[in-house]
Amino acid sequence: MKKTWLLGLLAFAGFQLSAQTEAETFREIYSQALTEQQGYEWLRELCSMGPRFAGSDQATASVLHFKAKLDSMGFETRLQAVKVPRWVRGPQEQAWLIQGIDQTAMAVTALGGSIATPAGGLRGNVVEIPSFEALDSLDLKGKIAFFNIQMDPSFISTGYAYGSAVKQRWAGAIEASKKGAIGVVIRSLSSSINKYPHTGSMAYADEVKRIPAAALSTFDAELLSKSLKKDPGLQIKLQMACEWQDSVYSYNLIADLKGSSKPNDVIVVSGHIDSWELGTGAHDDGAGAMHALESLYLLKEMGFKTKRTLRMVWYMNEEFGLNGARVYAKAAKSAKEKHVIAIESDGGGFTPKGFSIDASDEMVEKLKAYRKLFEPYGIYQFSKGGSGADIGQLKNDDIILIGLRPDNHRYFEVHHSALDNINSVNAREFTMGSASLAALIWLMDRDDLCVGCKS
Ligand SMILES: [Zn+2]
Repeated sequence: MKKTWLLGLLAFAGFQLSAQTEAETFREIYSQALTEQQGYEWLRELCSMGPRFAGSDQATASVLHFKAKLDSMGFETRLQAVKVPRWVRGPQEQAWLIQGIDQTAMAVTALGGSIATPAGGLRGNVVEIPSFEALDSLDLKGKIAFFNIQMDPSFISTGYAYGSAVKQRWAGAIEASKKGAIGVVIRSLSSSINKYPHTGSMAYADEVKRIPAAALSTFDAELLSKSLKKDPGLQIKLQMACEWQDSVYSYNLIADLKGSSKPNDVIVVSGHIDSWELGTGAHDDGAGAMHALESLYLLKEMGFKTKRTLRMVWYMNEEFGLNGARVYAKAAKSAKEKHVIAIESDGGGFTPKGFSIDASDEMVEKLKAYRKLFEPYGIYQFSKGGSGADIGQLKNDDIILIGLRPDNHRYFEVHHSALDNINSVNAREFTMGSASLAALIWLMDRDDLCVGCKS
């Protein structure tokens, strides 16, 4: 009886000790990250090199620059060649609202992949399209189609709001051209009214005539819509000199920290290194790339030895074709590499709120048990859901896919626009993301929390 009591006490003390140790470890990781803020300095350095549109010299230069840095820090690095499309925006994108002799300049940008307008510009009458359902009854012959579909502000998640409106960007040119339109302008996918146009990839269909496609700032979309109500005969003029060139080679960057006892089990922590070129991709996805790097750097610097190999991957060209992620997944499969966990940060550098988990219900439940450890740091979301476009390429039954979920209320104000620069990233908010990833990786590796990992 006495013995049982003693064992119970020891077990209780042991539990207390291990619980305290976890909390202490978390505190150490977050303290170190917030005190040092090394990742933010790297992000600043990355952004100072300019935009990193896939196929551009800067995109490749930034990969090579950080490869050398990681080599000197003791990571095992390698480059992985990726063939990427090359589309160049060209100089001076312009649009005017024309009413009689009055011409009002509007803020515009070509959608990624668009053809150019004729050299003298494209001028025409405008038909406003409030929804794809309304398209059937509209005559667009010889007109410029104006998709004015707002990101639904009633959604709590701006990601869902984006999803509710993004079709106009990728399918607008195809659908408008089928109805005879000569060009298309869309309302920028922005959650606020501002004068910055937001770009993003668009598509053409083989059998449908290609027409120029651009995005107006939300401010100018409102202006055009109001002006059309007063004067349906008004015209707009669009001038863009973008062009397609031959595909080029660039690289994914891979950096390993070898695991101590299970080096063949790989935990990927990743983001995409390419960005759009209106800003410098500080949030999308410089922040994610640096979250990946800083989380591994923190564990290494603080002397945590993981059982499994930690691998940072920076994918080249998420924005304009997912080429890097596809190349990475294909190579990993043919080399029969065992990926047990893949984490992606591609939601910006805002305050992290939690994780979205693409795994079995059982695994999601196990991860939810970590919530109490993370709550003091404002991390409470452990929900089943999509992870990310890049790591989605690795999906199978034996891998846990996890997306970092930062606060998203401001993300779509800057996303794919000139506002996505280092000034829009707060160092502490960003750093909380790196620390959260480091803490999660440490915990999952320690607890063997992956499919078939419990020995
Ligand atoms: Zn992104």
